[in-house]
Amino acid sequence: MENLTNISVVQDLARRHGFHFSKGLGQNFLINPTVCPRIAELGNARPGFGVLEIGTGFGVLTAELAKRADKVVAVEIDQRLLPVLEETLADFDNVKIVPGDIMKIDVAALLRQEFGGLPVAVCANLPYYITSPILMLLLESRLPLTSITVMVQKEAAQRLCAQVGTREAGAITVGVHYYGEARQLFPVSRGSFMPAPNVDSAVIRIDLHENPHPEGLDEGFFFRMVKAGFSQRRKTLANSLASLLGIPKQAVYAALEQAGLAPAARIEQLTMEQLFALARILQSA
Ligand code: SAM
Repeated sequence: MENLTNISVVQDLARRHGFHFSKGLGQNFLINPTVCPRIAELGNARPGFGVLEIGTGFGVLTAELAKRADKVVAVEIDQRLLPVLEETLADFDNVKIVPGDIMKIDVAALLRQEFGGLPVAVCANLPYYITSPILMLLLESRLPLTSITVMVQKEAAQRLCAQVGTREAGAITVGVHYYGEARQLFPVSRGSFMPAPNVDSAVIRIDLHENPHPEGLDEGFFFRMVKAGFSQRRKTLANSLASLLGIPKQAVYAALEQAGLAPAARIEQLTMEQLFALARILQSA
């Protein structure tokens, strides 16, 4: 098997296949030999598990996943990579490459068809231009996944894994914590990629809750409230919810009081439980 963390090997593959890296598709391939084995090991790629990968590049992570898991299904948008992957992954008979856009394919159907009853983990070095949309798609589709282990931009990692109720948190933090527990695993410097991006990265893992829906919560209202609050995060909730959701300020004050919160509370000060409590009161107001 070719050593895909060797720069000369990668350059030679690119040259022989006439491949040029696409910035638009977020093509920064991993060349640091320690990173892919760590992602695979910490990301639940092991016997008895299937892995869904998003974005194969030349297959450097795919190979590490295939060495460990029962089966790897990898979705790759760039058809130019298919002949490269035929060469680099020739040693593995447990890898299926699915050409396509992860945002457009039916991921639930794919998991059903390809993995049957196997527990499935997601492992990926995500294209940074659509990190949040991919994560929210995976989470909101309520796919039967055990964990999502992904490389993201360092700042995105900090935001995704921030504690809800702190200034570092945003609407995406609440979104992620609704569906699971997110934690940063390890940092990855920009020099670990070819070509090197202008940013540093980090690997995070989201361990999914078995049943994320809190009792009695109108999920649609909850996320409308979170979005409204964070889109005007410096305003008090009374102001943002009145102006964006049309809830009378008096109703917001009454709900805040009932939930034991200060009248001048801002969304970034509230914990997950406090957000749930406030939404439960306001959803029926
Ligand atoms: N896994 C490889 C590695 O670590 O070297 C490549 C990672 S590279 C950051 C991101 C990969 O995602 C590229 O191969 C790119 O073509 C692919 N990609 C970009 N947008 C995609 C999409 N919407 N759906 C599926 N794959 C996509």
